[in-house]
Amino acid sequence: MASPGKAPRPSLDSVTTIREDGSRLFLHPSDARGRFTRWRRSTGWLLIAVYLALPWIPVGGHPAVFLDVAARRFHLFGYTLAFQDIWLLFFLISGLGFGLFFVTALLGRVWCGWACPQTVFLDHVYRRIERWLEGDAPARRALDAAPWTAGKVVRRAAKQVLFAVVSLAIAHLFLAYFVSIPELWAMMHAAPAAHWGAFVFVFVSAALLYFNFAWFREQLCIVVCPYGRMQSVLIDDHSMVIGYDEKRGEPRGPRPAGLNVNAAGDTLGDCVACNRCVQVCPTGIDIRQGLQIECIGCAACIDACDEIMAKVKKPAGLIRYDSLEGLAGRVTRWLRPRTAVYALLLLVGAGVATWALSTVRPANAGVTRMAGAPYFVDEQYVRNQFLVRLVNKRDVPVRFTLALPGSPASMLRTGFEQPVEVAPLGERVSPLVVRLPRTEFRGVFHLDVAISDEEGSFTLVRGVEFVGPDPELLREEERERAEGGGR
Ligand code: SF4
Ligand code: SF4
Repeated sequence: MASPGKAPRPSLDSVTTIREDGSRLFLHPSDARGRFTRWRRSTGWLLIAVYLALPWIPVGGHPAVFLDVAARRFHLFGYTLAFQDIWLLFFLISGLGFGLFFVTALLGRVWCGWACPQTVFLDHVYRRIERWLEGDAPARRALDAAPWTAGKVVRRAAKQVLFAVVSLAIAHLFLAYFVSIPELWAMMHAAPAAHWGAFVFVFVSAALLYFNFAWFREQLCIVVCPYGRMQSVLIDDHSMVIGYDEKRGEPRGPRPAGLNVNAAGDTLGDCVACNRCVQVCPTGIDIRQGLQIECIGCAACIDACDEIMAKVKKPAGLIRYDSLEGLAGRVTRWLRPRTAVYALLLLVGAGVATWALSTVRPANAGVTRMAGAPYFVDEQYVRNQFLVRLVNKRDVPVRFTLALPGSPASMLRTGFEQPVEVAPLGERVSPLVVRLPRTEFRGVFHLDVAISDEEGSFTLVRGVEFVGPDPELLREEERERAEGGGR
């Protein structure tokens, strides 16, 4: 059994970060150097810049992404969606889901290794702080094992304080997506009691971020993330993964420089068993044991192995991006039933989402029947009463007008004193009463209610039913009334 202080060897039977006694092994992956590390770092910083910039960049008078929960408006790259348009999110989310399925079927866990916020912030922010304060991986492991001297206390405390500050900063940035930067700034200058909800939100978010990035780390990918657990059903032997070329690398073993035989005279493959690929792995696995669910596709082992191959004067790519078929020496097929189906679903989803977005108007309206009796009948008219709910999604007041296209010429309308002005981003409910002479009522019929702005830049048409009593009863009453009047 491994001692509590000793790291277990990566195995397929257990997670490396759990020792045999059940305690957590805190990983200190070594630094990798190479082209993928450089490209991932550039991508990571670009993504962090995008996350930071989105609440600042104005598009159409609002931040590029502003989920204004208080006003029940969602501003996405110039589109303003009211709460009533929330059904569009179904297409957006399912489109993203199909997109991720398609990318995973083609490129494996490229999202996890390159773009997931968990990887981006952990690798390019928190681990950089740790590296800066505590040194490289051997120095950090030595610090873990060292007794608690004043120097260790200071370094550990500084690291935790910096982690907490960064977590608070990210939590504030996260909040800015919901309240906007000016509102966030105002909140930061006011007493917490003035906005308890936001205050608690920020501190709970910061605490979760701190817990995750300071301690939990790769465990989130290994045991919590549902996407990671779905990999085995999304990919197949033709999907691009990061893998070890067993045919080329085995049998592995150390050997004198420049030779392919060991001291016993056995012919060896290209793997010199240096274990660099294991040391750099942020989830602690040995990729030479094959594709594993813990592999997040970070490509650190590719860079580590390429560096070793350069030193032993062998071609790069013993560990590389390839499919399992490619690693076995066969041809990788990009077009397969699953990639075709995912691509089709993605195209259909993108098409429907584009159409749905094109139907979004700068205003919304709903016409509902007033509570109570569905209709009223007096001596002259059959009357129906409705409530017209007007929603203005613009930043300027909008004056709404209403018409009843195609309605009978004798129909009268009251209640909607047009134009009805609705404040910027506001809502207003106005009554609408429509009356039809009882002699003209021939039964239930469809009535269109057309709502426009004064400039005529949009028209929203809502259909309602004009209802009344049985026309036969009305005619009977009319006859009786006429006979009574004649006597
Ligand atoms: S096996 Fe390689 S690609 Fe996978 S997580 Fe480890 S270092 Fe990253
Ligand atoms: S880094 Fe390359 S050579 Fe070294 S153990 Fe890993 S696969 Fe073998």
